[in-house]
Amino acid sequence: MTDAPAAANSGNPIETDVAIIGAGPIGLFAVFELGLLDLKCHLIDILDRPGGQCTELYPEKPIYDIPGLPIVTGQELVDRLMEQIKPFDPQFHFGEMATSLEKLDDGRWKLKTDQGTEIIAPVIVIAAGAGSFQPKRPPVPGIETFENAGDGIGVHYAVRKMETFRGKNILIAGGGDSALDWVINLAPLAKTLTLVHHRDGFRAAQHSVNQMRELEAAGKVKFHVASVKALHGEPGKLTGVTLAGADKSEWQHDADVFLPFFGLTIKLGPIAEFGINLHENLIPVDTARFESQTPGIFAIGDINTYTGKLKLILSGFHEAALMAQAAFHIARPNEKLRFQYTTSSSNLQKKLGVN
Ligand SMILES: Cc1cc2nc3c(=O)[nH]c(=O)nc-3n(C[C@H](O)[C@H](O)[C@H](O)COP(=O)(O)OP(=O)(O)OC[C@H]3O[C@@H](n4cnc5c(N)ncnc54)[C@H](O)[C@@H]3O)c2cc1C
Repeated sequence: MTDAPAAANSGNPIETDVAIIGAGPIGLFAVFELGLLDLKCHLIDILDRPGGQCTELYPEKPIYDIPGLPIVTGQELVDRLMEQIKPFDPQFHFGEMATSLEKLDDGRWKLKTDQGTEIIAPVIVIAAGAGSFQPKRPPVPGIETFENAGDGIGVHYAVRKMETFRGKNILIAGGGDSALDWVINLAPLAKTLTLVHHRDGFRAAQHSVNQMRELEAAGKVKFHVASVKALHGEPGKLTGVTLAGADKSEWQHDADVFLPFFGLTIKLGPIAEFGINLHENLIPVDTARFESQTPGIFAIGDINTYTGKLKLILSGFHEAALMAQAAFHIARPNEKLRFQYTTSSSNLQKKLGVN
């Protein structure tokens, strides 16, 4: 089957074998297991990169219980998975939320995203972990009108390209590692950089706190014990904010860009509305196929539940292998499946590009 390019395609749906919701470690390994069976995949993730919890929550922490890898960081594991699935040319739709799922008359599924992408596939794999990651929005009235204003202006919850912030009046809020890391990294580029936090203490690594204090002493960063009360400007164009100090005094502050770093929440999100049977926000599956109670919709990794489930990466890898075998019979009902080892099958080695 040929895949259309991975781009928003409203009105011109992509047809593929498998649509995977979630590009965490388990969604990625599913591409490998499905690829060995010649099944093509499109993956959707609300994040702007692969890796799920591994890259978003603990990229530099070592993992010690991946079989055959005595020690590997979250980021390294994801980099290796990306390398391993390269031969299968998966198509990624990053920065997109899977929002709806509809059964078509021909038995296939149509999956839609909030960016207008539509994917039609006989098999849906939900590898959505604990749900979609969403930044915590500070309680400032009208803040949403300044979001997505464009590169380097308005309100952003992540820094993707530092250069877009060059020469700007930057306001950062928060007291954790992300807030302090971005103070340190953006200070050399900024016209002015101000950090606000509700108390004179931080939850960040001590060396980051020390560096921030040095920048403050050198006059390169201003720090206030304060919070943001209001944003000023027109929708999409921030010009300043009202800050409120601990003593309730308020003052105006010029800012082109506001970067709040108040952590991420994980929400199940639209999957709850897909009409799939859920148990405490998890998808019950049978352990022979890892299929939900809706035929054709599989659930692997942290999102599923069954007797004895362990939320471990290695469990998800096993689930992906069994899911792929079952998914094959749905996607290729008239073909036979032959069990083969990668070590000895020249057919599999050809697919992997090693033979
Ligand atoms: C601090 C920490 C340490 C850990 N250490 C270990 C360890 O040592 N060993 C171990 O085995 N496990 C460890 N884990 C657990 C491990 O990270 C998880 O089991 C694993 O990440 C689950 O992978 P997953 O692919 O199922 O889900 P996730 O990694 O959660 O990925 C799911 C992805 O789906 C996306 N998504 C969800 N819903 C949607 C939607 N509607 N639209 C678009 N995208 C969506 C999310 O954005 C996310 O990227 C640790 C976890 C944490 C938090």
